[in-house]
Order: sequence, then structure tokens, then C-alpha cells
Amino acid sequence: MGSGSPGDARRRRTGRSGGRGRSSLILTITRECDLRCSYCPTVKEGWPSLDPAQIERAIALFCDRFGGGDVKLFGGEPLLFPALVDAALEAAQRDPRVHRIYLSTNGLGLDEARLERLAREPKLVLTVSMDGEPADHRRLRRPLNVVDGETTRDAYAHLRALMPTLRRMPRAVVTQTIAPATAARAARNFAHLRQLGWWRFNLLPGYYLPWRAEQLADLREGFAEIGRDIRRAWAEGERLYVRNLFTLAPTPFFNVGMVVDSDGSIHASNVGLASSMSELLDVTRVGSLDDPPSRAALSASAAELPRLLEETVPAPILESTRAVDAALSALVRDLYPAYLRARARRRASAVALGAPGGAA
Ligand code: SF4
Repeated sequence: MGSGSPGDARRRRTGRSGGRGRSSLILTITRECDLRCSYCPTVKEGWPSLDPAQIERAIALFCDRFGGGDVKLFGGEPLLFPALVDAALEAAQRDPRVHRIYLSTNGLGLDEARLERLAREPKLVLTVSMDGEPADHRRLRRPLNVVDGETTRDAYAHLRALMPTLRRMPRAVVTQTIAPATAARAARNFAHLRQLGWWRFNLLPGYYLPWRAEQLADLREGFAEIGRDIRRAWAEGERLYVRNLFTLAPTPFFNVGMVVDSDGSIHASNVGLASSMSELLDVTRVGSLDDPPSRAALSASAAELPRLLEETVPAPILESTRAVDAALSALVRDLYPAYLRARARRRASAVALGAPGGAA
């Protein structure tokens, strides 16, 4: 991730999915999923899932060879296989070289008992996908099964019912995906999620999708309104955390690090998850859990990614991706000074009250 002086990092602050400069192990536990989101690029059929022993080996390898860092559990939907999530959590908790463990989920596998268990995991950051008002959430996050015109799993209703517990989780973040079809309602959907009680946000415009000019204009306007809402909240001393302020990434959307795919192969990025980029899997593969790569091989492969994406992604899609990325980066750059001011105010008042200050 980012290197160089803190000043460089500040200038390169992008808001895209990434870490705080720590190494990342990205585990694609499974590619299976019980939703079919309209913007999801992941190939879901025809792949095995990892097993608990592979997960333990991957975490041990990451710590021994790469010094540890953050472990990210992705899919597909990881909670389709709770035993695999538990294996990852247990291995990560055991090893002090694992700093944080991130679990990204569509929420359908959550219930009160599991949330209670997850709340006790000291290293866990739970990231739940919710896209806004019920109509937009349901429009984008389509269920896998429809029986007699009725959806078998309504992700919005499921998560809405869990909100009292989700609000109390020590580190639960909501990812609001903004698709071209919902860009005009981005700020309304953000406000709805805040009304539900979410206060830790990860904003995710739809990457690698075609965006029309008017949709891009809606996205920029939506981000401007969201930015005003956030600054107002900070000025009034409200708690509002925006994860995008603390993330850096060399490629839009896809994660870079030690990526273990669901078949045990190892890559420098999870770009090969996408059906349109599956041909890259052979190119990005640098080893497997049985034949792990050196650190140098992984870094060399990561350095090739921007060129590979340039050569593989059709020009109009690449152009859209750069445009949505620029819109998100502009929001982040605009918000960062306000965040620093809010943090300074909060610390000053914490000192005045004799209590420790915290992050926004
Ligand atoms: S929940 Fe995630 S993996 Fe499943 S279809 Fe939606 S975006 Fe894709």
C-alpha cells in the first residue's frame, strides 16, 4: 500500500478499499453467495471453498513469511460457511502478529447469537453491506431464490430487524454501495442508513461498471451532499466515522496483498474474482498454499497490476472506473481537513473533561 512520507500518503489519500499501510491477507473463503447483487462481478459457480486447515495454513504463512498484519475474510459470502469463519477468527486471535480481522458480509448469515459471539472478538471489524432505503437495497441486492414471485430471503428486512444489536456492536461498519441506477439517491440512502443507526461508513461507488454522464453527475452531487451532511455532523459533535478517510490502494476496488483464492491458489490481488477478468487468474497466480511465493514474487506481481488492468478492461469501463474513483477521492480530500478539525476539538474537550479523546 502507500509508501513514502506521511505527506505523500495524505496527498495520495484516495478513499478506495485498502489498508492503513499494513500488509493484508485476503482470504476468499468461498465464491458462493446467497445473493445476486446487480453490480457484483464475482464468478460464483464451479469453485471449491477453502477448508479450516487451509485457512490456518494461510494465516500461519502470512505471519511467518510476511510478518502479519490484517486478515480480511471475503467471498462470495463468508457466513455461508460459519465454521470457516470461526477457524479464521480462532487462528487470527491466537497469533499476535494479526492486527485486525475484517469480516465482510451481506448480513443474511447474521443472527442474534452470532452477533453476540462476534461482539466478543477483540480484533474483529464487521463490515455489513446495506445500500440504503428498502426499495434501492432490494433493487440492487437481489436474492438468489424467488419462489412464486416472493423472495425467500429479504436482506433488507433481515438486517433491519438486527439493527438494535448491530448498533451496539463494538466495530461494525456499513458499506453503502452506490450503483449507477441509485446514484441520484446516494445522499438519501446515506441519510436513511444514518437514521437506522449506522455511524461507521464505507462508501463504495460501483467500480468496473458502465456509468452514463448524467449518472456520474448524480454521483458527484450525491457525494457533495453526503460531504455536507458529514461536516455538519462533525461540527455538531456527532459520532460519524468514514473508513474511506483511512484507506489507500494502488488499484480501484480490488484488494492487494497476499490473496488466497477459494481453490488455495495465491495471487497479489483478487482481480481474478471478476468474470470479465478471470483470464488474469493465470497471470496473477504466484503460487499456492502448497507452494507459497516469496515476498519478492508477490510484490513484483502487484507492481504489474495497473498495466494488466489497463490491457484487460475495456476503455469505456476503465474511464467510468477512473471517474467514480476520482469522485470518491475528491470527497475524501474535501472531508479530511474537517475530520482533523473535529478530532482536535474532541480531543481538546476530552482533555478539558479529563477523559481520553478518540477517533471520529
Ligand atoms: S453479497 Fe457480495 S458476493 Fe454476494 S452477490 Fe452481493 S456483492 Fe456479490
